[in-house]
Parts: sequence; C-alpha cells; structure tokens
Amino acid sequence: MENLKAILKENFQKEKRNNITFLTGAGLSAASGIPTYRSTDGIWVKGTKYHKPEEFGTFKYFSKNQEEVWQFNLFRKGMFEKAQPNESHKLLVQIEELIPEYFSIITQNIDGLHHRAGNSDTKIFEIHGNMRSVRCSLECSKSVYPYPNNIALERIDEELTDDIWEALECPKCGGLLRPNILWFDEYYNERLYKIDSTMRIAKNTGILVVIGTSGATTLPLELVKQTLKYGGYVLDINLENNNITRLIEGKKRAIPFRTTSDEFLSEFHQILAQNNINKLSNTN
Ligand SMILES: [Zn+2]
Repeated sequence: MENLKAILKENFQKEKRNNITFLTGAGLSAASGIPTYRSTDGIWVKGTKYHKPEEFGTFKYFSKNQEEVWQFNLFRKGMFEKAQPNESHKLLVQIEELIPEYFSIITQNIDGLHHRAGNSDTKIFEIHGNMRSVRCSLECSKSVYPYPNNIALERIDEELTDDIWEALECPKCGGLLRPNILWFDEYYNERLYKIDSTMRIAKNTGILVVIGTSGATTLPLELVKQTLKYGGYVLDINLENNNITRLIEGKKRAIPFRTTSDEFLSEFHQILAQNNINKLSNTN
C-alpha cells in the first residue's frame, strides 16, 4: 500500500478540506458475528418468513404487524448486546486518537459497536439510526427516548409479555413506540439521520475511506459523490466489486483496495503512528 502514504501526505499538505472520514457498513460488523442484511445468511431472511428486507423493513409492514416487527427488533437488540467490537472497530479508535481533529465516522450500522469500541460520540454519525433509542410511532412529538431496559429477546419467536408491551408505550400519548431506525420506505432527514451534517462532512473530506458497505442505499452513494466533487479521495476497501466500485470506476481520485478492513486499517494506523502529521505535511 505504497500509495497510501502519498495520499495521506497530500491530504495533510492541504489547508482545508482535509478531514478523514470513514464510511462504514455491515461488512465491518460481520466479524463481530452480526450477519449483513443482504448476505444469504442475512437475518432478515433467517429471522422471518419474508425474504426481502425491502418488504419487511418498512413502516408499512410495521403498522400492520407490530408484534412481529418488535419481536424481530428485540431479538436483534439481544444479538447486538452480545456482540463485541472487532479488530477493525478497535483500530478506528486508535486512529481517532492520532488525528482527533480530522476524524469522523459515518455509519450505516445500527449496532452501536463504534460507540462501544470507544470512538467519541460526537465523531460518530449514525445515518440509519440506532438501537439505543426509540420514538413514538404515532409521531405525537419529536422526542427520542432511551431504549427501555431489559426487553431484548433471546429467541426470535418469543412472545412479547405484558411488561414488554407496557415498556413499549409512548410516555406522552400511550401509543406504541418504534425503533429509532430508518426503514426502507422512509426518507433521510437531518434531525434523526444527520443528512445535512454528513453531506457537509463529505464536502470537507480529503480522504473518504469506505469500508464494508455495498452502497445499496442512497446517502452513502451521495457522500462518495460529494467527496469526489470537492476534490477528495475515495478509498474503497472491499474484497468484491459493488455499487460503490461501479460509481467510482475510472475516477482519478477513487482507489479500490482489495484487502480486508483489518489489514487496511492497521496499515493506515501504522503510517499515521510512524509519521506525525507535521512530518506528513512537510513539503520537502
Ligand atoms: Zn406518542
């Protein structure tokens, strides 16, 4: 990865638009035992009789099948709580420690593993929501509430007890709460999903590192386009071609790295650790 050092050097020689942003997706959490949505062992497939996430992961489906959708989400919540941050999550913490003022993570993951690994809350943008909070499904207010305690399920087919139903009542109107996540038939916004903040970050990014995301949703693709538009590099860390690869094909500042996220991040960390920023930004 000889060119990586050159790219970092070029970045730190710039006086602005030199932020370093990591855009992460399900592939990053796979090593923590969380199946990716779209893989053949994806939990949307395994967990329900419905095959397409686009059908099951919708507000429309939730409004007609509230118990089933909550069962699925409470089971997933249990799975996230048992999972541990993996090597790549830990490397991202070490990278933040070296370049805190340049660093952001924009993640599609709702599993909270970047927070639990130890990255700063203010540096993590969860564009598909998270499983630490809930909100009213009737939208009686704009409030976001902490996730009720101790309601995760061990099994996907476990019935919801009266206590769980009670914990899932909106404190304001008594309606049913919903997970604070973005469903497939919903739109990005700033208040819950940080669309404006992340587009602004992408504009000021000199190096966008894309890890473990196939670019199947719109905002990640827009972030990639935005970074390239304002002169930043996009490094695509992926073992296989995907929508991101197709989007960046032939672009001068877009570089695919066919390697694992652990390998790439460890190299990235090593270059930063061995060459402090002053040394990297020295033009000689
Ligand atoms: Zn309410």
